Amino acid sequence: MGSTGSIGVNTLDVIARHPERYQVFALAANTSVDAMLAQCETFQPRFAVMMDEAAAQDLHTRMPDKCSTEVLHGQQALARVVTAPEVDMVMAAIVGAAGLPSTLAAARAGKTLLLANKESLVMGGHLLMQAVRESGAQLLPIDSEHNAIFQCMPADRGARPSLEGVSKVLLTASGGPFRCWSHERMREATPEQACAHPNWAMGRKISVDSASLMNKGLEFIEACWIFDLAPQQVDVVVHPQSIIHSMVQYRDGSVLAQMGNPDMRTPIAYGLGWPHRIDAGVAPLDLVATGQLDFEAPDEGRFPCLRLAREAVAAGGTAMAICNAANEVAVDAFLGRQIRFTDIPAVIEQALTQVISVEPVSLAVVEAADTEARALAADVVAGLAGGLSLMSNA
Ligand code: NDP
Repeated sequence: MGSTGSIGVNTLDVIARHPERYQVFALAANTSVDAMLAQCETFQPRFAVMMDEAAAQDLHTRMPDKCSTEVLHGQQALARVVTAPEVDMVMAAIVGAAGLPSTLAAARAGKTLLLANKESLVMGGHLLMQAVRESGAQLLPIDSEHNAIFQCMPADRGARPSLEGVSKVLLTASGGPFRCWSHERMREATPEQACAHPNWAMGRKISVDSASLMNKGLEFIEACWIFDLAPQQVDVVVHPQSIIHSMVQYRDGSVLAQMGNPDMRTPIAYGLGWPHRIDAGVAPLDLVATGQLDFEAPDEGRFPCLRLAREAVAAGGTAMAICNAANEVAVDAFLGRQIRFTDIPAVIEQALTQVISVEPVSLAVVEAADTEARALAADVVAGLAGGLSLMSNA
């Protein structure tokens, strides 16, 4: 799911290295018809799902005779392919809240769920983890930090790691492109600068999240859900080289770290191959060339998104869905040059203050919170955007 994106393309790269192990049953994207067409020609999936109906129609028209791929569209089709009996594993790599229904459907159907789409867990963590428990699905984290934590957890674990002897999880953050920038400089940051991550090549939304440290905030929430950790058991450590992908600290003082080059094919291959190790096409880590590993504390003054994510966890209920929705609206507005980079936390804070958090008892309740937060955030964005255009006119 999300095959045309950064994670999707890397997943297909790993799969292509192991034709004897994997067969692609379905691919899904939103509107990228050219990329999907090329993927269908190479991987010959049974189904290709486009969220967008016009894109699906276009894909269907252009599908060459040599491809027997059936083209579907919409959320129901997505749920149908992820729950099909032929499917063993689902790579959940749609960006944003749009990934929640299909991710949840795969979890409820007891599939091995390779989870990259962190927003679905942030938004519906309670529902998703309940579905995993009840169906016996295996959740394997693909986010590099959570994949690293998974690898460093006690060895005698099944798909759901035990916390035996674990005292803390140390979540590493690169600090993003603005790690050393002042608040004043960040006020003038452009989308191009925010998307120019120093270590990772990623989609635009997650790149902006990395620059604002909201990505670390979302990952903080993700770690609490996946590993059943209390918020005080998760510390964030800035590590600019992105060589250590996260660490687990044990009661006896040991700290286990997972290291590697910053290449998402490593966690993807780990998830695909688990519990075995398979070739990922990743260059071996050269520690001598790396030379130095640095660590520092995150600066929540310059990067308030991390604090906001912590506050959403503390508030509980649908606050995390509200935080995620407001962030998605704010990032979109920043990428569309409607608001400043430094406005992003202000939009989230307004949503967290004004939208009331309730118990996330069903997908409908979570989606209602998401909708309300998006509407509120859009109002805040409109106000900020008005101010910005007044300023530029002056
Ligand atoms: P991209 O923006 O590169 O790709 C997003 C994918 O989702 C595309 O295939 C896109 O299709 C599809 N998509 C977008 N909207 C919808 C929709 N409404 N319905 C169905 N499909 C949709 O994102 P990334 O690959 O960077 O990130 C994907 C997820 O993985 C995110 O949740 C991110 O946080 C997470 N992640 C990413 C990492 C990375 O290195 N990139 C690292 C760790 C986690 P289309 O091309 O048609 O728009």
